[in-house]
Amino acid sequence: MPGSTSGQQVAVITGAASGIGRALAVRYARERVNVVIGSYPGDPHDPHETLRQVEAEGGTGLVVDVDVRDAGQVDELARRAHETFGRIDKVVANAGILRRAPLAELTDDAWDDMLSVDLTGVLRTFRSCSPYLGEGGAMVAVSSIAGGVYGWEDHAHYAAAKAGVLGICRSLAVELAPRGIRVNAVIPGLIETPQSSDPVNSLGPEGLERAGDDIPWGRVGRPEEVADVIWFLTSNDSRYVTGQELVVDGGLIVKMRA
Ligand code: NAD
Repeated sequence: MPGSTSGQQVAVITGAASGIGRALAVRYARERVNVVIGSYPGDPHDPHETLRQVEAEGGTGLVVDVDVRDAGQVDELARRAHETFGRIDKVVANAGILRRAPLAELTDDAWDDMLSVDLTGVLRTFRSCSPYLGEGGAMVAVSSIAGGVYGWEDHAHYAAAKAGVLGICRSLAVELAPRGIRVNAVIPGLIETPQSSDPVNSLGPEGLERAGDDIPWGRVGRPEEVADVIWFLTSNDSRYVTGQELVVDGGLIVKMRA
């Protein structure tokens, strides 16, 4: 099933209508990689704005609606990517939700919904796309310092999912190495996107501004700064890197606090 090894490469990104996913689609376009822009219909962001930015870079994109909670839709995302472009080379499981829920309010439904997007959604994306990948293929999951490094009060379900993502990546790195496919994770710190700008479930604009003062780099990150690292992890420059996590946080986690 793997596609041809010549011609233009193809990347599949989930959650590419906004934030880090959109910035990554633009980066791929700049690198002349065709992009499949996974878009969740329940999201207010317009995936065609991502497509417009991809085309403004001279790239080619395809918008595909996908809810990563639905295995059939994720299979269809991979099938359409392959049908349209004839190959898949890079897969980025970026889709995610963030909800605030103190333990007493963390119902089974809230837990299940979170894990279905942020954890099982990663597995579904890799499972559906990997049959199309050939030698040199690369997959990246987007974890978080919440769960990937730290705990975060009122976010046990999010942190559990983001910690679990690392286990998926390490295991698949071993399992898929014989096929020449690499699997890595990025661990973003605080990045200014629609998710972190939500004052109810995350820090909100003022919280982000304040948090910047405590980051050695002096500010929160930009989506492009994570996208560039994902580009690296899916490029030939990282060809001997697999099963690893790269923290992209402006020095946040290494700062000693007295
Ligand atoms: P974002 O909200 O702009 O992007 C998340 C994307 O996921 C959206 O486009 C949304 O439509 C999509 N999505 C949500 N539910 C979905 C579903 N059921 N099926 C398919 N897609 C769905 O925010 P972002 O910050 O760019 O988030 C991208 C990733 O980065 C997420 O996994 C997030 O948890 C992670 N992350 C973000 C930060 C940060 O500070 N912004 C930090 C650490 C990790």
